[in-house]
Amino acid sequence: MQIENYIDGAFYPPIQNEWLDNFNPSTGEVYGTIPSSNTPDVEKAVIAAEKAFPAWSNTSIEERSAWLFKIAQAIEDKLEDFALAETIDNGKPISLAKKVDIPRAISNFRFYANAITQFSSNAHETTGRNTINFTLRKPIGVVGCISPWNLPLYLFSWKIAPALAAGNCVIAKPSEVTPMTAFLLAKICQEINLPKGVLNIIHGLGSQVGQSITEHPKIKAISFTGGTKTGEHIARTAAPMFKKLSLELGGKNPNIIFADCDYDKMLETTVKSSFANQGQICLCGSRIFIEKSIYTKFKTDFIEKVKQLKVGNPLAKDVSLGALVSKSHLEKVEAYIKSAPKQQANILYGGKKVTVEGFEKGYYLEPTIIEVPSNQCALNQEEIFGPVVTLLPFSSEEEVLSYANDVRYGLSASLWTTNINRAMRLSNQLEAGIVWVNTWLNRDLRTPFGGMKDSGVGREGGHYALAFFTEPKNICIQY
Ligand code: NAD
Repeated sequence: MQIENYIDGAFYPPIQNEWLDNFNPSTGEVYGTIPSSNTPDVEKAVIAAEKAFPAWSNTSIEERSAWLFKIAQAIEDKLEDFALAETIDNGKPISLAKKVDIPRAISNFRFYANAITQFSSNAHETTGRNTINFTLRKPIGVVGCISPWNLPLYLFSWKIAPALAAGNCVIAKPSEVTPMTAFLLAKICQEINLPKGVLNIIHGLGSQVGQSITEHPKIKAISFTGGTKTGEHIARTAAPMFKKLSLELGGKNPNIIFADCDYDKMLETTVKSSFANQGQICLCGSRIFIEKSIYTKFKTDFIEKVKQLKVGNPLAKDVSLGALVSKSHLEKVEAYIKSAPKQQANILYGGKKVTVEGFEKGYYLEPTIIEVPSNQCALNQEEIFGPVVTLLPFSSEEEVLSYANDVRYGLSASLWTTNINRAMRLSNQLEAGIVWVNTWLNRDLRTPFGGMKDSGVGREGGHYALAFFTEPKNICIQY
């Protein structure tokens, strides 16, 4: 299948007629081609977006909200098609695509369809000076949205929905590794007659399309989710141009388990927070710290549970882990596993490629548990972003807090304890944008989402994203 760029409400091949192969990770086979677009395609999209902006930014809030509801409904009407496309493109179990990825993309559009109707200006009356200040929030203009491959439509829509709701026109780039549901989104936008040029979707490499979006002088804000290294590069390009930047980057999240936790709930959730989506969720708890008194018991029980996870064809019903997203990503994760002995780390379970009958060339890997000698080894310091977790025991709150925070990242943390004082003490001191106590991936879309330290700059979610995608303008009147 060949997909095309969506510009000004129509589909176009790349101007330079260059194409990339699209791989199905569960078979390792090429199953389509995607545009390898470049600066001229981005330029064409910017012209369309600029042309669309005056009318779009002047539509009533109710009208923009109605468009977002229409997009959500159109995705929901084709939920099965979207889920199938996501699974084939990404390798994730179809059950996950149906239950999490596509429903969440629908919720993103519905959430911002509602949220924009509640987003209002502030007024400050300055008594004694007969003055009133009011602060308008104006759409920025043309904005760029760049997203990664791990939760393709989920993260793509998490940016596009607030950007459109706030009255901007968008140039969006999905990951070249997983372009398919972005293409389906473009198709439904055309089917429902979304005004032309309001949303433009350009496919291709980060170094070409992503770079052109970042450099374009008329794109005034960039919302990016992806790796920390790419985020650094984007910041280096965009900061001297004084663009607004929202950067959601990598993580190396701690999962801290105390002996006084609700053990069964912790164990079940820890299996998910370790290996959901093959461990390719930025919020996965890849460093597991366990209080010494329950370390041996946890190790035994955790391995036993993980052994029961089935790795296989992601389209099959009973599969827990599908394929990793690409050959190069599989090789990167394997290299980390192979480095374990050199780091005096002990592979307790997994670590090997899995050959799935009928899908021999797919990128399958066992869920892998590694016992590490310290928090300082590369396995505990670098983001692996695959089905690999490490185990390390601790003796005190102080010790585990130092492990948790002694890393360049600060995206999320999970904490398992029934001691409310300890939960509060540690939550306050953990260097993470999101702390979950006795739960994981429990999201209320109104809350701020994002990381500290090298995990990013800014917050998405709720009114935070609407604030990002608008420019505040204060007007001061004396009467
Ligand atoms: P990536 O940084 O390689 O790519 C992300 C996107 O950026 C892709 O669309 C890519 O084409 C584009 N890109 C690449 N180079 C670019 C450049 N020079 N200029 C502009 N755009 C460029 O990341 P990935 O491998 O797709 O995704 C995995 C990473 O994403 C992990 O580090 C993960 O932690 C992170 N992530 C973070 C969050 C979060 O919310 N913090 C969520 C999901 C994933």
